[in-house]
Amino acid sequence: MSAVLTDPLLASLVPAHGFGTRDALPPEPLVRPKQVHGDRVVDALVCRAAAQPPEADAIVSAESEFAIAVVTADCVPILLSAPDGAVVAALHAGWRGLAAGVVAAGVAALLARAGCSGAACLAAIGPHIGPCCYEVDEPVLAALDAGLGAPARAAARATRPGHARLDLGALCRAALRDACLPEAAIGTTAAVCTACDPRRFHSYRRDGPRSGRLVHFIRAAPRG
Ligand SMILES: [Zn+2]
Repeated sequence: MSAVLTDPLLASLVPAHGFGTRDALPPEPLVRPKQVHGDRVVDALVCRAAAQPPEADAIVSAESEFAIAVVTADCVPILLSAPDGAVVAALHAGWRGLAAGVVAAGVAALLARAGCSGAACLAAIGPHIGPCCYEVDEPVLAALDAGLGAPARAAARATRPGHARLDLGALCRAALRDACLPEAAIGTTAAVCTACDPRRFHSYRRDGPRSGRLVHFIRAAPRG
């Protein structure tokens, strides 16, 4: 049984978080949206109260009674916390979500809820497919270019005509910096490649539609 991965930086504020591995057991209860590769953010209480999980790729919570989560199999999971750990967020960012602006939307919702600035927040980037294993084609690059501009091209390394290796983690860091998070506030110790490590991680690119999903969770600290 492999354990969840934690981020030392984020752990200083929010002990109750983890990036999933293949057979790690997430905590219960767990509240998560129906992910659709968009930029919509849902509140944890709204999500929990809904008969069917609402469509969203980011969830924000101030509840210490239950954890919130996103699931991935190559896309980037991002866990976020306000300065006191009392408001947290979980984001699912693949190339479609990144192009749509899910990172900016998720951080904005967290800041609005916590009443703080991005400069005071912490983020942690979890396991996702690395540029070592992630070649994309021109339509993907064009969509990212349209949505994100210069950082999109900077995260791509040309391979063969019409293709490039894409660094999704670098795109996430750029989007977080755009939201005013300092580089030093972005933890990357858990940002390892899912496709390179079949023992620990599910990978859609490697395993196809039968791939499982990794569960990444965070629970707000009780208010002082
Ligand atoms: Zn790899």
